[in-house]
Amino acid sequence: MNMSVNVQDLSLLKEKYSELQSKLKHWSHKYYIENISEVEDAVYDAHLEELKALETEHPDLVEADSITKTIGSGVYQTSFTKTYHLEKMMSLDNAFGEEDIRDWENRINRIIGEETPREYVFELKIDGLSIALDYKNGKLYRAATRGNGKVGEDVTANLMTIKSLPKEIPLELLEKSDFSIRGEVYLPKEDFKKINAEREKEGLDLYANPRNTASGALRQLDPKITAARNLDAIFYNYFPYNNLGYAETEQVKSSSNSINEHFNSLEYLEKLGFHVNKEHNHLCKNIEEVISLYQEWQEKKDSLDFEIDGAVVKVNQLDLQKTLGETSKAPRWATALKFSAEEALTHVLSVDMEVGRTGAITPVANLEPVLLAGTTVKRATIHNFDQVDRLGVKVGDFVLVRKAGEIIPEIIKVDEAKRRQSVNGETIELVDVTRPGHCPVCGTALEQEDTILRCPNIVGCAAQIQRRIEHWASKKAMDIAGLGPAVVEQLLSEKLIKNPFDLYKLKFDDLAPLERMAEKSVNNLLAALEKSREIPFHRFLHALGIKHVGLNVSELIASVYPSLFELEKEVLGNHGVDLLKLDGLGEKILYSLKHFFESEIYVQVKRDYIDLGFDFKELVKRELSDKFAGMTFVITGTLSESRSYFEKIIKDNGGKVSSSVSKKTSYLLCGDDAGSKLTKAQDLGVEVLSEEKFREMV
Ligand code: AMP
Ligand code: ZN
Repeated sequence: MNMSVNVQDLSLLKEKYSELQSKLKHWSHKYYIENISEVEDAVYDAHLEELKALETEHPDLVEADSITKTIGSGVYQTSFTKTYHLEKMMSLDNAFGEEDIRDWENRINRIIGEETPREYVFELKIDGLSIALDYKNGKLYRAATRGNGKVGEDVTANLMTIKSLPKEIPLELLEKSDFSIRGEVYLPKEDFKKINAEREKEGLDLYANPRNTASGALRQLDPKITAARNLDAIFYNYFPYNNLGYAETEQVKSSSNSINEHFNSLEYLEKLGFHVNKEHNHLCKNIEEVISLYQEWQEKKDSLDFEIDGAVVKVNQLDLQKTLGETSKAPRWATALKFSAEEALTHVLSVDMEVGRTGAITPVANLEPVLLAGTTVKRATIHNFDQVDRLGVKVGDFVLVRKAGEIIPEIIKVDEAKRRQSVNGETIELVDVTRPGHCPVCGTALEQEDTILRCPNIVGCAAQIQRRIEHWASKKAMDIAGLGPAVVEQLLSEKLIKNPFDLYKLKFDDLAPLERMAEKSVNNLLAALEKSREIPFHRFLHALGIKHVGLNVSELIASVYPSLFELEKEVLGNHGVDLLKLDGLGEKILYSLKHFFESEIYVQVKRDYIDLGFDFKELVKRELSDKFAGMTFVITGTLSESRSYFEKIIKDNGGKVSSSVSKKTSYLLCGDDAGSKLTKAQDLGVEVLSEEKFREMV
């Protein structure tokens, strides 16, 4: 057999090889870094397969940085199709005990009134991954992960491997043949143990916990691997649709379904064959019942075959849920009731004074590493100096640390009995944690503000500047790839920058001499900086790091005030009167914005903003008015924009949108090809508006 390849063939192969490499690298970069899919996944995969085949046949061609070597390490792998959720997937607010639960009820009472009868549904909070499933004509149509709440990943093929999940439901059982459900995918504890036992035998690293393992299994590109894990799912939410579709004009959310209580919707799902955790769901008549169930489960939380990290309580009546609505992050009609988290005893080695983005000094303890809720903990916050006094904690103490929810661990108690003991034959020497008088970084005299000790040197404190720039560069803000903490630190220590805007004045020659900055990294960084100038305005607003103005709030604000100066005018000129009309925006946020616009920082921001010619992309601008107050609209037929576009306009102007025509309907906004709603409106004498007329009214 002749294995030799002649010279000409070889150079053709090489050409082909590098063409495949560069195409794949380009697409992959676009996809991961810029979020642009230039080609279908199938095309990407076909190219990749071709490349792999070539490499197998001609190992001598393989380049050290071949894209095939990065596959699986998370950089270049092909990935799931991104997909929009029909209904945003929200998170839940947390309550950590009886008092918090009562506070939650008080907040509800303020909206619906104390007297309004209501029930609560008590459910367990399964510690898995949230999942959204859409069924069309009774068949599983699409399954998606939560992602960022708006856009998730299509994992339908993987969900199909869950044995307990009904994939097709007889139409005669269904109240609506189209619907969405929400639930939690998890790995049973038993299966987790088995998997780890296998891995131990094979000398592989063990998985940390069932949740991460489930997450890994669900996000496998090859459903066969998912199938080998024994994933299961429990569901807790139901949304009926008259017509479920992904083009917004197609989808019609149903409001006329026969189910008007959350508890009934769970029973209904159970009847259809979904796991809903029936035996652990309770309908509670009042908050006392909720509290006693919560306390009961706190004790027996480890008794189940799946992990739970708390309970969830929801208002049962769907019309009350609607009245309560949601904040920008979470529904008001539900809250998570977290169990008090795991605790561990460890030793305080030293205490650092950390200076935050806003100058707050936080005492942070360095600990003897300890395992807590599945992770190794080396540091814990003591929050502030009042807390230091309250706990009486000293360096050298043994302390109880606790991890609560997602928050970094905190010290909750000093073990005073241990003070009298000795460690390895030596008595422990205790050193007081003293309140510093001056900023540990810039030396400015600190100021006390309530419980917070603060460095007032906003403009000059290196620590604050560094934190601000790190935040500026972060993914959710200006998203400047390659500008991590180490680079920021160098830029600051070399005095190349003093504030985030200085980044945009950097030249190649400024960056090249820095440590670990090869020519390529310099160019990448410069390109990333340039790209960040084109970011939508709300990301810039978030990047400014104004207290309480996170990404969601920024988005909300930017949808009405699409530029810095318009926002300034509203906040300072109009005292934020109109800003406060936005749902989800309160006094606290306004106060913080006002504080920002009046600060020294803003003077600097404004100057640089103008000098550098920043001009961020606007989101669609919304106008607010009371024009439609007291009016109810129904929308039907094909219009020039999506239905939600018109819904937004109606709501922004104080009106309501309903999905069915009745005597109470004020107007039917009617596009082309309207059906029964138009007939009904005409029968009832409801005024019909064309899109043109509607726009005139606005
Ligand atoms: P968090 O991630 O702490 O904001 O909690 C919200 C998440 O809890 C939701 O996105 C769900 O994934 C999850 N969850 C688990 N069990 C339930 C339940 N019974 N009802 C609602 N959400 C639940
Ligand atoms: Zn300082």
